Amino acid sequence: MRIAFIGMGNMGGPMAANLAQAGHEVTGFDPAAALPAAVRAAPDAAAAVAGAQIVITMLPNGDILRAVAAQVIPAMSAGAVLCDCSTVDIDSARAVARQAQAAGLGSLDAPVSGGIGGAAAGTLTFMVGGADADFATVAPLFQIMGSRAVHCGAAGAGQAAKICNNMILGVTMLASCEAFALADALGLDRGKMFDVVSTSSGQSWSMNSYCPAPGVGPQSPADHDYRPGFAADLMLKDLRLSQQAAMTVGATTPMGRKAAELYARFVEEDGGSGHDFSAVLPWLASHPTI
Ligand code: NAD
Repeated sequence: MRIAFIGMGNMGGPMAANLAQAGHEVTGFDPAAALPAAVRAAPDAAAAVAGAQIVITMLPNGDILRAVAAQVIPAMSAGAVLCDCSTVDIDSARAVARQAQAAGLGSLDAPVSGGIGGAAAGTLTFMVGGADADFATVAPLFQIMGSRAVHCGAAGAGQAAKICNNMILGVTMLASCEAFALADALGLDRGKMFDVVSTSSGQSWSMNSYCPAPGVGPQSPADHDYRPGFAADLMLKDLRLSQQAAMTVGATTPMGRKAAELYARFVEEDGGSGHDFSAVLPWLASHPTI
């Protein structure tokens, strides 16, 4: 297939590389990131999408997605599908879907879970919103970039699933960090604490696969000075998306609201920006009055 890939940062780069490695013809554009060797560079986004059957975007946020969509939709070939894999607000996802439809194009919102490790290994989970036919068109690419793709419903349903998933992620990471801070104060060895919780009812992905304590459990950003990984700034973005969505539909999410408040303080007031989202653990340890 002829694929255009727009946005090749921490996630998009390895995703595009996997598509090229599987034999697809991938043309890409990113104004800042280095492109994987097997991806042909285009001078701009509109040039990248010319002649492509599928256009994949992997961008930082909804405003940038809307700007890129305005550039690429008029340049896309008839019948092509625009598949956005970024995590963005539901309104932006639906607005882009409407524009694509009006131009006679297919579209999907297909955010991912699995992080940079999953992007490199081709084991991401895709949560997808859009029409059945468009899902069927892109499904073979989801199989290359990931190990699972769940068609969640109509346009915006993929972003809805992602926002709910990441609200759980933010809350469980904070809970895991708090538990380590409490265990430290109680004089409990961190390794013993991990051994118990990771095999008991307190287990979660945050604890078992992404342990926030260095030297404990599997390798994680905690073992690399809390370099992202998944930046605290992106966690804050996703928690705010969840709270924006909850307010729009009147859902009650007090833990999500508290998690958004804590990450906002960490990122915007206490120097957490640029660190992994698990760096809340040393932050708690050095801020006894939070
Ligand atoms: P990133 O900042 O590393 O990559 C984004 C890329 O988009 C950058 O290389 C940037 O140069 C490029 N870009 C910005 N404006 C552009 C434009 N106008 N045209 C083309 N390219 C443009 O971010 P990332 O970690 O790769 O995350 C991308 C998306 O995936 C985000 O929405 C994020 O929330 C989501 N996500 C990230 C992770 C993770 O672990 N990093 C996991 C799941 C989902």
